[in-house]
Amino acid sequence: MGKVTVIKDRCKGCGLCVEACPQHNLSLGKKFNAQGYAYVQFDNKGKCTGCAFCAEICPDLALKVYREAKQKKKA
Ligand code: SF4
Ligand code: SF4
Repeated sequence: MGKVTVIKDRCKGCGLCVEACPQHNLSLGKKFNAQGYAYVQFDNKGKCTGCAFCAEICPDLALKVYREAKQKKKA
């Protein structure tokens, strides 16, 4: 499981990450950032795998991906 946070004032709404996400977790929102761009929103329906394709393709380093660490089973 993964989670993505958007640094909204870095996003310029280019949509590259929206296209890159295999799980369709990202979309351009209707809110505007300080630069006047409609920035990306992360919609976690429990489908984010933490693959980080979105963060890798973003030219503005506007996305941070967190992966949930698997818990080790106690012996
Ligand atoms: S980490 Fe992967 S699955 Fe999650 S939003 Fe980014 S591209 Fe989509
Ligand atoms: S790739 Fe980066 S700049 Fe482009 S829409 Fe996604 S978060 Fe915003």
